[in-house]
Amino acid sequence: MHYLITPLFLIFFVLVSANALHACATNTTDAAKQKILPPDIPWHGKSEQYTASASDPFITKAEATDYRETGDYQDTVDWLKRLAAKTDDVRIINLKEKTPQGRTMVMAVVSTSQDKTPKGLQDSGKPTVLIESGIHPGEVNGKDAGLMFLRDLTVGNKYPNLLKKVNLLFIPSVNPDGDMRRSRYSRINQNGPDVTGWRLNANNLNLNRDFTKLDSAEIRNVVNVLDTWNPDFFMDVHSTDGINYQYDVTYCDNGNGWSPAAKDWMDKKMTPKVYKQLKSMGHIPNVCISANDNNDLSQGYYPYASDLARFSNQYGDIRGIPSILIELHALKPYKQQVLGNYVLYKAILESVAADPKGLKEAAERDQTLRPTNTTLTWKTPDKVPEVQFKGVSYTCQHRFKMSTFHRSKMTCVR
Ligand SMILES: [Zn+2]
Repeated sequence: MHYLITPLFLIFFVLVSANALHACATNTTDAAKQKILPPDIPWHGKSEQYTASASDPFITKAEATDYRETGDYQDTVDWLKRLAAKTDDVRIINLKEKTPQGRTMVMAVVSTSQDKTPKGLQDSGKPTVLIESGIHPGEVNGKDAGLMFLRDLTVGNKYPNLLKKVNLLFIPSVNPDGDMRRSRYSRINQNGPDVTGWRLNANNLNLNRDFTKLDSAEIRNVVNVLDTWNPDFFMDVHSTDGINYQYDVTYCDNGNGWSPAAKDWMDKKMTPKVYKQLKSMGHIPNVCISANDNNDLSQGYYPYASDLARFSNQYGDIRGIPSILIELHALKPYKQQVLGNYVLYKAILESVAADPKGLKEAAERDQTLRPTNTTLTWKTPDKVPEVQFKGVSYTCQHRFKMSTFHRSKMTCVR
């Protein structure tokens, strides 16, 4: 029996003065946002260098609007097709099944190989990395960072040696119908862009809970890509939903789950380099974090290793595919989210390019481990580790009401 114990982390809070009182809101959108979200923590980083110049013909909508806006699904497909028309290194293919509203899901195949079929990529001898973004369309940083990265890998020619060593598959939106259901109010708990798509698909399914049942055409398409293209590394990109903290770029592997050799490879060969590069570019990386109680952080947080196989990363893990879940911090300015994600893509591809043999061997070891029975749920141990945590200090503004029945008691209303 192969089972996994979820660590439950208690937290030492390192309260850091954020001094984040924001300058006066500059327009009505900012004003509306600031009523709901905590004040921005001012940020500048070296990764700002990755924003294209205004004269670049492949500048993205996010970059052109100083990261206030993002394109919809049709904009994304049009942009990718325009890129593919410009370079032999990119081919856009249609995935097998249409969405409930009849849209075609696309995937960009990015490779120097002339033959951009699964066999062509396999024959190239290079490792293949699969990135999927927009499974929750409001969490759109993965798409915007992906478009920038694809441009710079190909027509931008910024990393000529990287594409010689890896192939990249990029599904820009796993939920095109949700992406086209757009509103200013889709992600009011997120610090931009102004208008985004909706979390669920047209059948109101949360697609990142469908990797075990495969009820949706969208996730059957993703699984078909895993079956057909046999990627060596799989990333699913999101932004967070919960508490405030200093970390802006977080990702998680799957603990000591079904693919321990892949985890070992990531811990030793990937994460130290990735963290180093992120820090040098002005970002603060960490494992993914969700609070056990959003109103009481002393209850600790859990890393997402506790997720079940209906989630993308655990599904990949259970199949012996090295997989991670990426979560950019939704309360950071959208520009910071996109640029942090860009650095993350670049650093991970460089790590894969540096040790493709080690990564493949790890995946092969995990695939031979495949147990007869697989445990799909587990419980939390009583004893949990404590960690240093980069929190954000805050004060609550309370409104007090004097009780008419007992004047010495006051009720705090947040
Ligand atoms: Zn999400």
